[in-house]
Amino acid sequence: MKQQQNAPVSANGRAWVEIDRQALRENAKTLLALCPKGCRLMPAVKANAYGHGAVGVARELNQIGVNAFCVACVSEGVELRKGRIKGDILILGYTHPDDFTLLHRYRLTQTVIDAAYAKQLNRYGKKLAVHIGIDTGMRRLGEKSENTDAILSVFRMKNLIVNGIYSHLCDDDSLTEESRAFTEKQAAAFEQTVAEIQKQGIPRPKTHLLSSYGAIHYPQYGGDYLRAGIALYGILSKKADADECPVPLIPALSLKTRVASVREILAGESAGYNRAFTAKQNRKIASLAIGYADGVPRALSCGVGSVLIHGKKAPIVGQICMDQTIVDVTEIPEINPGDTAILIGRSGDAEITACDIAAQCGTIANEILSRLGNRLTRIIT
Ligand SMILES: *Cc1c(COP(=O)(O)O)cnc(C)c1O
Repeated sequence: MKQQQNAPVSANGRAWVEIDRQALRENAKTLLALCPKGCRLMPAVKANAYGHGAVGVARELNQIGVNAFCVACVSEGVELRKGRIKGDILILGYTHPDDFTLLHRYRLTQTVIDAAYAKQLNRYGKKLAVHIGIDTGMRRLGEKSENTDAILSVFRMKNLIVNGIYSHLCDDDSLTEESRAFTEKQAAAFEQTVAEIQKQGIPRPKTHLLSSYGAIHYPQYGGDYLRAGIALYGILSKKADADECPVPLIPALSLKTRVASVREILAGESAGYNRAFTAKQNRKIASLAIGYADGVPRALSCGVGSVLIHGKKAPIVGQICMDQTIVDVTEIPEINPGDTAILIGRSGDAEITACDIAAQCGTIANEILSRLGNRLTRIIT
């Protein structure tokens, strides 16, 4: 194809992520159906929407009526605003006082991460919207649920507009008796704190406690918002959980690349860095235009991982490079340069999920997805 001068680089020319719009919509519906009436979605679009592309995903969700989001940090909130995302944007993590001005300018809602931090926010001097974080057992962020006086003092700070109060469950993916007991204690501590606030004549702020696993295992604690991340993207952290999931989730993301070159190597020849692969017989190999700088874990090197080409599995050979990956395509005679290879997603009857890759790397799907690189274009289909 002839390219015009100054034409933009094609979106699917090298390595890219495809997002299935319909999958996102279906998952949003499925998760909301689990929750009590009145509960709305506040999707977690932090870490570039778990690699899916934050602005693109939030825009899609805006279009189906989602008007609250949560992000990890102020820069992510600013990016959404610059992408003209509407609604409330809650920052779940720490914002340095030097950046409080951005909270104000971009109408971002900041989490009160403890009582001392509330004082810092209040001292900024201009009105700031906040949700109060409550620590009910995770011991990460939030004012301790028992410290009722400290929590009540936040409501009296003249520059803070308290729009919500929330906590985070830290063991909601496990359903052992012990885990259940811990989670129920967290939920009870949170409700107790909210009740104390109301006892003081303060109107009940918006409440939220659940993320993805919470929605599936403890939907009764729904409150006003569901902070869904991983499940909204159509998977769960671990393969076994995804297999046993009581509701149908549809993976929204595919990771694809192009076959750059196909070549024969002879028995005894090696390929790639450190000659980590040596062919026992004559083989056909292909170089793919994607590497670990794009977020393909280097731990998939040397046959641990595979890709799909024309519906067939091609094992990764040798060490994954920063920008390229070599695969064995001896069993795929119909392969040509320019063909598509799929690292996450479906090809014919075959499928590789982020959970499969996570298992091969000893981690969870969340890490695999959130590390997908900036160099990948995001295409919504
Ligand atoms: C990331 C995050 C979420 C979303 O979690 P998922 O398990 O992906 O649904 C919700 N709440 C907080 C506080 C988070 O940090």
